[in-house]
Amino acid sequence: MRRRDFVSGIALAAGAAACSGEQGADAAAAGASRESFEWNLATSWPPGLPGLGTGVQHLVERIGRASGGRLQIKVFAGGELVPALEVFDAVRTGTVQMGHDASYYHRGKVAAAQYFTTAPFGLVAQEMDAWFYYGGGQELWHELYGELGMIAFPAGNTAHQMLGWFNRELNSIDDLKGLKIRMPGLGGEVMQRAGATQVTMPASDIFTSLQTGAIDAAEWVGPYNDLTLGLHKAARYYYYPGFHEPGPALECMINKAAWDTLPEDLQEIVRSCCQAINLDMQAEYNWGNAMALEQLRADPDVELRELPQEIFDELRRHAYEAMNELSAQDEWSARIQKSMFDFMQKSNDNLLTGELAYLNMRMRTRS
Ligand code: CA
Repeated sequence: MRRRDFVSGIALAAGAAACSGEQGADAAAAGASRESFEWNLATSWPPGLPGLGTGVQHLVERIGRASGGRLQIKVFAGGELVPALEVFDAVRTGTVQMGHDASYYHRGKVAAAQYFTTAPFGLVAQEMDAWFYYGGGQELWHELYGELGMIAFPAGNTAHQMLGWFNRELNSIDDLKGLKIRMPGLGGEVMQRAGATQVTMPASDIFTSLQTGAIDAAEWVGPYNDLTLGLHKAARYYYYPGFHEPGPALECMINKAAWDTLPEDLQEIVRSCCQAINLDMQAEYNWGNAMALEQLRADPDVELRELPQEIFDELRRHAYEAMNELSAQDEWSARIQKSMFDFMQKSNDNLLTGELAYLNMRMRTRS
């Protein structure tokens, strides 16, 4: 805009405001209704868990402060109000107004929803954000959840996850045969196709199951959270990279009927605070993982292992087969998967010539 147009635009706006007089003041007052709301939020997370659990607490505190106390939200940890993996139904049916979990926990109910957490061999955290905010991901999410009577926003990301903790070494694809592994979502299905048995359980059950041998392997998140759960005391081999969750996003789900009762300014506060916590949680994980990894490397009872390329490639073949089969059966999965992976094709070149090139050179020259 040229300066003259800009200045005349300001004059026009000022004139319009002056002319509207009392009517304008009334409209402003109505827009900033003083009605207040008390909501409940169910999560899948153990109480106080760094990152996921504390992130949700920070989210509701931000919303409380930003709204001047007009939207107060009480947080319930996994299992306190509803079972940890049943947050989706609690929000959909209105038992709670809001929920925070990972959308792949309810893939059995809405298969396509799992892509909003992650896709195996898919996008990393910064690409997920690019896709959500600029690549149409958020619009697809609103459309799908709108059909379910809900609305959801990305609200946190753990950054790249580790493949997990194993009580046996992985030297060939055959070592996955008969392995009972805790791994949710499509990643677990991929493991199953490679001969393992997929087990889904909330965080609170992982340590005991791994320690007692009820399962042979488990992924949870990464160094920061895995150290908190004590998984390094339940299994020896810590494998990377995690093909199954390259940059998983958490979701803040809201019952649509409850959402519609909020005035526009409170809706914007919720939307903006979700975006703020989305950034904040990634920063916390990138920091916390670096600190925890150093600690795990120094532990003589922990062996960090890179997954052999042969196994990685074989799992990728299974992953694409699984996703293609899902897309053939489910139109929503096909739409979302195409949108994500079309972006990934373009993003690959951007990363190869940008950060990846830089990081490779940075690592080669470090002293
Ligand atoms: Ca995980």
